[in-house]
Amino acid sequence: MVKALRFLSHLFGFEKLTPNEKDYLHESNKRASIYMGFIVMGLEVWMLIRQIKKRVIVKVKEGQPLFDMMVKYTSKYWLFLLIGLGLMIFCIFFTKKRKKISKPAFITLMVSGALCFLYSFVIFIENFTKVNAAAGILEQQAFIMNFLMVMLYVLTGVIGVSIIIYSIFKYYKNKSINLLEHVIIASFTIICLDFGFYVSYSDFMQDKEIICYLTMILYVGCLLIYRPYISMLILLSSFYGFYLILTTFEGGKSFAPVDGVISGDSVNYVTFLVSLITICFAIYHGRLNEAKKTHALEISLMNDSLTGLLNYNYFTERAKEVIETSNDISNDVFLFLDIYNFKSFNDQRGFEAGNKFLVSVGKFLTEVFDTKDREVLISRQADDHYLVLTSKENIEEKLNVLKEKVKSLDEEILLSIHGGGYSPQSNTEDPRKCIDRARYAAERIKKNLEKIYLEYDKKMHEEYHKRLYILNNIDNAVANGWITPYYQVVVWSKDKEICGCEALARWIDPTYGQLYPNEFIPVLEEYSLIHKLDRCIIERVCQDLRAGLDSNKPVFPVSINFSRLDFELMDAVNELETIVQKYNIPKELIHVEVTESALIDSFDLLSVAISQLKDLGYSIWLDDFGSGYSSLNVLKDYSFDVIKIDMKFLSNLDKSEKSKILIDCIIQMATRIDMLTLTEGVETMEEADFLNKVGCGRLQGYLFGKPVPKEVLYKRIEDKELTVSKNCL
Ligand code: C2E
Ligand code: CA
Ligand code: CA
Repeated sequence: MVKALRFLSHLFGFEKLTPNEKDYLHESNKRASIYMGFIVMGLEVWMLIRQIKKRVIVKVKEGQPLFDMMVKYTSKYWLFLLIGLGLMIFCIFFTKKRKKISKPAFITLMVSGALCFLYSFVIFIENFTKVNAAAGILEQQAFIMNFLMVMLYVLTGVIGVSIIIYSIFKYYKNKSINLLEHVIIASFTIICLDFGFYVSYSDFMQDKEIICYLTMILYVGCLLIYRPYISMLILLSSFYGFYLILTTFEGGKSFAPVDGVISGDSVNYVTFLVSLITICFAIYHGRLNEAKKTHALEISLMNDSLTGLLNYNYFTERAKEVIETSNDISNDVFLFLDIYNFKSFNDQRGFEAGNKFLVSVGKFLTEVFDTKDREVLISRQADDHYLVLTSKENIEEKLNVLKEKVKSLDEEILLSIHGGGYSPQSNTEDPRKCIDRARYAAERIKKNLEKIYLEYDKKMHEEYHKRLYILNNIDNAVANGWITPYYQVVVWSKDKEICGCEALARWIDPTYGQLYPNEFIPVLEEYSLIHKLDRCIIERVCQDLRAGLDSNKPVFPVSINFSRLDFELMDAVNELETIVQKYNIPKELIHVEVTESALIDSFDLLSVAISQLKDLGYSIWLDDFGSGYSSLNVLKDYSFDVIKIDMKFLSNLDKSEKSKILIDCIIQMATRIDMLTLTEGVETMEEADFLNKVGCGRLQGYLFGKPVPKEVLYKRIEDKELTVSKNCL
């Protein structure tokens, strides 16, 4: 029984529809209104031509004034044509989802509303007088039917006025006009029925067919699909109403056509009605199924399958709409949120727990950010990165609440969340760009547990652009010679004579001027482009050495910095060897500097490369010893020719006895395992004296010279400011 009832309610469309299904049906109806607008207009144009040809021209020829005749015989059709046009324009251009009412839409609506009202007014006056005339002569029924027909026009007029009032109201309150779309579709239905009634009725009075009415009913029935029970009501009542009008038709003519309808065409008339109802049912259920399928498809395209939040693509699409229509763009903010320590959680607790964790974070985000006041978009971009588009108010408080929730997910592993924010500058800004910027801000506080939120600011903006510029121009920089080695001398600690130099990259840029390694090396490493720079520096150093050798200038060994990534991104050993051979440079003139941290990160790869380089005859220097996570294993596992002690040890040498002892010990230890020593960052004579005393062989630092171009270095040697040692090795 319940099942049967449920089936019937489904069949007749009493069931509750989801907002998406409603939307889908509504959209189809809107499209149908557009088609119908075309049809109505076509018919009106045809009617106009007919009226002008048959009536106006004839009357004008008889001597009547043209304007009066046009008004008398064609005004209705003009009005109808314009209403059709106005409503169609509205449906095509102004019913974009969630869009606020715009000025052109407002004007169109006002005009259409006014015409709608005028039209019904004209017809109403015409028919009302007829009803009056008929009332005395004809039967009660005829009076009622005529009156009903007039009421239809009254309704059209009321709709016209409502459209005007509603539009004014919404326009000045700057609200969306969703309801109006429904009104417009309904008014299309009524106008079509009106039109069918009117034309067919007057045709019928002249002993013609009722085709026009049937055609219009067909349009309404097939194109504008309401719930089946509503379609059924519309069809049944209008068929019955029209049938009554026909059978009681007045005008003093013969009743023959009425008999015709009853006896001959009534079967067809009913068959037509039944088929039409069936078609309406079929179309409705077909569309509903389509809506369900489309929605399922949309969901899979819109959502992140794990958390159910929006996916990145859909987020950016929606975000575009939101910022386009935002009234206060400076209050909107894109958040990029990143979980601290998620990797560790995932590794320790397993993949499944990791997934659950991500789902929980998604829920927390919805709890914390979702509000009724405005549309908030939340998405999981990828991995443990989330995006939110919300308003700026209380961002930090909200993030703190979120942080506590995230923390509570695991008592043992330290978890946290932090975010970067970016406010779009205009309504047309690309959301992807905004997200990039928010992410950039988030990355700045990635390792700083104290800070939960950082907003992208002007300084970051310049930095960001510089980074982008570097990324986009590394090839240009290499090709155009913007990258060049500067040389900083290395001296013997005993006599301070030059025993070598270090090549330090500089990017002399046409736009930014001189760029320093701390600006471009981290970016190039992050995007795995560092090998391009290092290959270029190798080549430039070899060129410089070759030029020095050829012009009999004093030459001394050059240390070249290698990034850990060079060994992964290119065949570094082979590249170096090829270039060195190309310029025919003696191997003892090249030192390879590898930083300590590189060795800890990628042991196997580097250990092979280092032994190959050694076999080929290059000297290998360990850079930055003592910075970062020093490991004495590095010294045990590899045999370096020279260790470069990091300049951090020198930072407070004069005050700290401990630093002195440490440096002393490192130098003794290195000497005992047959490694030579160099200390970097020597800035004062006291430091130099101390290092000489404790037996450090080589020194490098501003005290002896900053990194300078080749020419400057040669000039200083020529000027005898610096002396090149006879024995550089
Ligand atoms: P690094 O290899 O430790 O180079 C020494 C850095 O310390 C250089 O900075 C140098 O100018 C600076 N310096 C030298 N003496 C002193 C001093 O007395 N006081 C102070 N405060 N600083 C001193 P720079 O040229 O800015 O280079 C920074 C880092 O960039 C280098 O550190 C190196 O790791 C990297 N780098 C430079 N050129 C290249 C290159 O061609 N390839 C690669 N992969 N890295 C490079
Ligand atoms: Ca170095
Ligand atoms: Ca160094």
